Amino acid sequence: MRLRYRYRLYPDAAQRDALARAFGCARVVYNDGLRLRQAAFSAGQGFIDDGELQKRVITQGKRTPERAWLSEVSSVVLIQSLRDLNRAYRAFFAVRRGERRASAVNLPRIKSKRDGRQAIRLTSNGFTVRDDGKLYLTKVGDVEVVWSRRLPAEPSSVTVVRDAAHRYWASFVVEVEEQPLPRTDIECGIDLGLTHFGVTSGGEKIAAPRFLRRAERKLRRLHRDLSRKQKGSANRQKARLKLARQHAKVADRRHDWHHQESTRVIRENQAVFVEDLAVAALGRTRLAKSIHDAGWTRFVDMLEYKAALYGREFAKIDRFAPTTKTCSCCGTRVERMSLRVREWDCPSCGMRHDRDVNAARNILALGRRERLNACGEGVRPERVPAAVDEAGTDRSEGALP
Ligand SMILES: [Zn+2]
Repeated sequence: MRLRYRYRLYPDAAQRDALARAFGCARVVYNDGLRLRQAAFSAGQGFIDDGELQKRVITQGKRTPERAWLSEVSSVVLIQSLRDLNRAYRAFFAVRRGERRASAVNLPRIKSKRDGRQAIRLTSNGFTVRDDGKLYLTKVGDVEVVWSRRLPAEPSSVTVVRDAAHRYWASFVVEVEEQPLPRTDIECGIDLGLTHFGVTSGGEKIAAPRFLRRAERKLRRLHRDLSRKQKGSANRQKARLKLARQHAKVADRRHDWHHQESTRVIRENQAVFVEDLAVAALGRTRLAKSIHDAGWTRFVDMLEYKAALYGREFAKIDRFAPTTKTCSCCGTRVERMSLRVREWDCPSCGMRHDRDVNAARNILALGRRERLNACGEGVRPERVPAAVDEAGTDRSEGALP
């Protein structure tokens, strides 16, 4: 399966300039390609194919005085940037034709210089890992890398990113072997926590650690500070960077914690079932936002790829089911349940339930039932490796624990 590994880069001043040029050129090529396609479409000329687009945007572009500076950066960067655009279009068309399921994939949009995140992608002819550990990037030079963990295989491409906190990263996609863990008989369902990050069918409550909650409070304070600063002022600029740095810090800590917890859950259980988040949000619209704030999407993605990596079963329950309002003991469904109710007694069997543990037990039961159905049809439960995003749309630069 393919996984993404991310390492911090420390380019010097000249390399930062070279990278800024590359980010700029990649963005311009992407936007030029997008505008050409939009114009052709408006003029009723149909879709410009990939080869034609590359010829017009890169080859012919370089010959014009307005775009002559595209020659200053590696052509690999430019070609990859157009490839990302093509991929974004294909993803959009695939969803529209119903070939791929996704909640919302929009048409590609113009990239701005002011976007917090800037990225370029290089294929193997555009970079080399040197014997001394430096990362050679074509037309940039030998860049200092902190190899925080071993890269398990030869990477076929690298994405170089500058994030909103002005940090640089190299992100590699590599093929890794599956490493099945010894079998266990324990299986669990996890309910998206309302009072907790998550609650398992075994009764365990997973709470975000105190340091993370503290860091998140500080983040909210910096947000307020920024909104009080005058637009366009130097102080506002400073406050913005401070906020971006705190954002990065919180994101990193949350990420580390998600890794720890997801690895633990996958180690301890042979099968893990969770509600599909899009479906869960249907029943809990008011809470959808707080669910996403808690980083559930990322956590669930980690569970999914780690299950595939360690030979465990993982499934999302994507059928809408009233998991909260159904007794996990006898199946009786109660009409309504206020959000304030933390514990309740089943009117039929008299069982006393913790609200979230009961929901998690129902999720586990649904997961097992769907597995049985799948076996009945002679189909094994599907195991999907972690999605590998493109430079332009990457939101999941996960790395192994
Ligand atoms: Zn009952």
